[in-house]
Amino acid sequence: MRIAFIGLGNMGGPMATNLVKAGHDVCVFDLSEQAMQTLEDAGASRAASAEAVTQEAEVVVSMLPAGAHVKGLYLGKDGAPGLLDTLSGNPLIIDASTIAPDDSRTVGAAAAERGFAFVDAPVSGGVGGAVAGTLSFIVGGSDEGFERAKPVLEAMGKNIFHAGETGAGQVAKICNNMLLGILMSGTAEALALGVENGLDPAVLSEVMKQSSGGNWALNGYNPWPGVMEKAPASNGYQGGFHTDLMAKDLGLAWELALGSKSTVPMGSQARNLFALHAANGNGGLDFSSIQRLYRRDED
Ligand code: NAD
Repeated sequence: MRIAFIGLGNMGGPMATNLVKAGHDVCVFDLSEQAMQTLEDAGASRAASAEAVTQEAEVVVSMLPAGAHVKGLYLGKDGAPGLLDTLSGNPLIIDASTIAPDDSRTVGAAAAERGFAFVDAPVSGGVGGAVAGTLSFIVGGSDEGFERAKPVLEAMGKNIFHAGETGAGQVAKICNNMLLGILMSGTAEALALGVENGLDPAVLSEVMKQSSGGNWALNGYNPWPGVMEKAPASNGYQGGFHTDLMAKDLGLAWELALGSKSTVPMGSQARNLFALHAANGNGGLDFSSIQRLYRRDED
């Protein structure tokens, strides 16, 4: 299948690589020259613009930071046309970015007006899952859009869920990430408390992993440097899932809660913690660096 892939960051890069490995004809575009070079080395072709990359594409996949980028790409900005005005044929559009459900619905409705199928398909599983091809995709869209997207997503992920109509994938993803933000900050808090009371962080981690405090952040993404060799914490919090992106997702959860008049006290706490951490200059570090908010000594 000829697939256009736009957005080759920490997640999009390995996702596009897996599409190449699965035998698809992948053409890529990113604002970063280096990101495109990496994909070219992996066997993809590249294009000089988003418009050029989608020529003759059967599927368009986007993996961008936030809603403004996604709306700018598809709907246009500053008077420039968006992709929906330049696409031809009958491509399926899959946006895998995490954005507000209303932004997905806006882009989905504009796509439908022009006769294009659109699904939102945010992901869970982190950079490790993107590299291993074991991501979970949480799809919002019609049954037909879901069935068309599934074989493409299966080359990048293990669990492909159909959450409901357009935007439903984002709602489920935002709920998941609100819980993840709570779990990561809670894990960091518990580790700091133990260490400040004389425990070895590796020993405490093992105890909690095998006990009722076990959770995804602790079990596979330990925020304390040196405890888990492959976790971003052991690599100066480089790569992974940026604090800025977690703060964005917790903000999306807050907006969602305002709209539905829901009560999210733990999510609000987590949003404030990650927003403070980002404001302190840590926005480009992996979100597990929230551990530094709790540590007295520097690592
Ligand atoms: P990233 O910042 O590493 O990558 C974003 C990429 O998009 C960059 O390479 C950037 O150059 C490119 N880009 C931005 N605007 C562009 C445009 N107009 N045209 C072309 N390229 C453009 O972000 P990421 O970590 O890969 O995350 C992408 C999305 O996935 C976000 O919505 C994030 O919330 C979500 N997500 C991330 C993770 C994670 O662990 N990193 C996990 C799940 C979901």
